[in-house]
Amino acid sequence: MSARREAVARRDFDVVISGGGMVGAALAALLVGERATQSLRVAVVEPRPADLPLPGEPLDLRVSALSRASQRLLRAVGAWPAVVARGACAYDRMLVWEHSDAPEGPNTLAFEAAEIGEPDLGHIVENRVVAAALLAAATRRGATLLRTSLDDVELEPDFAVAVTPDRRLTTRLVVAADGADSPARAWAGIGGTPEPYPQAAVVAHLRPEAPHGGAARQRFLADGPLALLPLADGRVSLVWSTTPEHAAQLVAVDDAAFGELVTTASDRVLGTLVPTTPRVQFPLRRFHAQTYARARFALAGDAAHAVHPLAGQGVNLGLLDAAALAEVLGDALANGEDPGDLRVLGRYSRWRRADNAVMGAALDGLYRLFANPSAWVGRARRSGLGLVNRSGPLKQFFVRQALGTGGDLPRLLAREAAE
Ligand SMILES: Cc1cc2nc3c(=O)[nH]c(=O)nc-3n(C[C@H](O)[C@H](O)[C@H](O)COP(=O)(O)OP(=O)(O)OC[C@H]3O[C@@H](n4cnc5c(N)ncnc54)[C@H](O)[C@@H]3O)c2cc1C
Repeated sequence: MSARREAVARRDFDVVISGGGMVGAALAALLVGERATQSLRVAVVEPRPADLPLPGEPLDLRVSALSRASQRLLRAVGAWPAVVARGACAYDRMLVWEHSDAPEGPNTLAFEAAEIGEPDLGHIVENRVVAAALLAAATRRGATLLRTSLDDVELEPDFAVAVTPDRRLTTRLVVAADGADSPARAWAGIGGTPEPYPQAAVVAHLRPEAPHGGAARQRFLADGPLALLPLADGRVSLVWSTTPEHAAQLVAVDDAAFGELVTTASDRVLGTLVPTTPRVQFPLRRFHAQTYARARFALAGDAAHAVHPLAGQGVNLGLLDAAALAEVLGDALANGEDPGDLRVLGRYSRWRRADNAVMGAALDGLYRLFANPSAWVGRARRSGLGLVNRSGPLKQFFVRQALGTGGDLPRLLAREAAE
């Protein structure tokens, strides 16, 4: 038997996913959990799999605003109860305003879940809890977790090889969900357009003097947005996007000075804010891969796209990628097609790349609008926020986008919504 025919005959897996972060773990859980793809043998290669924290362990610094659509995905694969048990914080109000206005003034954009008959607008969750709950759901249903890193990918016409330090895994398809610096994307020869933003995000948890009341707040300052996201233990998670120099200062000053700076910059919207954690800064950039698919290879999550965190959309887009890819692979199997075929993967790439391009451009437009220092743009911006706030249909459109329930939803998520 030729080496090629032997590799096809003794395939180790059907799908090897590089990266067991939130997106890779979600894809694995969907593939092994949904009837259409249950027959696939799925492996997740992840060197640092997240564990559920022990009871009483403090909240991690990395949290995300999960949309209703993402919540549906977690519920569908049985991962949501573990996330709730660890203290997901529902938020039912979102307030957005400019630094020259008062926090609840006439030009504040205020979204209320009740206005659209929803119980909440989303949940603030710990990233590691989401990843751990999804990985547990995936392995419970038969996915194999390999605690190692992927070192290379070889793509052949009828199979792929995922190379780890001690094994060569033959598979029909490799999916790279290995984050924004995706090494697998580079091995597959997929380029893109990285555009660093002249901003870094400083992240910390603080205890507010006034209760956060289940509201997510964002104040647009001259150097970037400052967000205060509500946490289940009464604290707030700060995401302050600002110039890299300012971010470095915010990380370097002592706790008392940092607390004062955040309290002032937030216009005392929650009174005095007292820091309770160390601070970490993240560089911010925009990136879109030129394609999400090659024969026997696909990209998902931050490996495919990176967006500004100002609307908390990054992982929500990645989870939609996972649901869309699982759906396309399920349809391909039902039609007797090879799930690693470029015609199949091209359907996924066209679908999600188009949707993510629209969202990426919208977020970049928002970033540029608020970064523009011109006085007349500032006036237009403020009256624009007020206008959206007073216009029923426009406001509903934005709320649907924030909920993640607008656009071309994968069937699983549309079905879950109807139930
Ligand atoms: C400050 C900030 C705030 C944010 N807030 C929000 C928010 O509120 N809402 C939101 O939706 N998004 C938010 N995001 C974006 C969100 O964090 C990312 O979109 C999300 O973490 C991407 O998930 P992922 O699974 O695609 O990638 P990652 O989380 O980066 O996971 C990649 C995984 O791949 C693994 N890996 C890497 N290399 C290899 C290899 N060679 N072999 C095997 N595995 C490998 C890594 O160990 C990791 O576990 C925010 C981002 C920032 C910076």
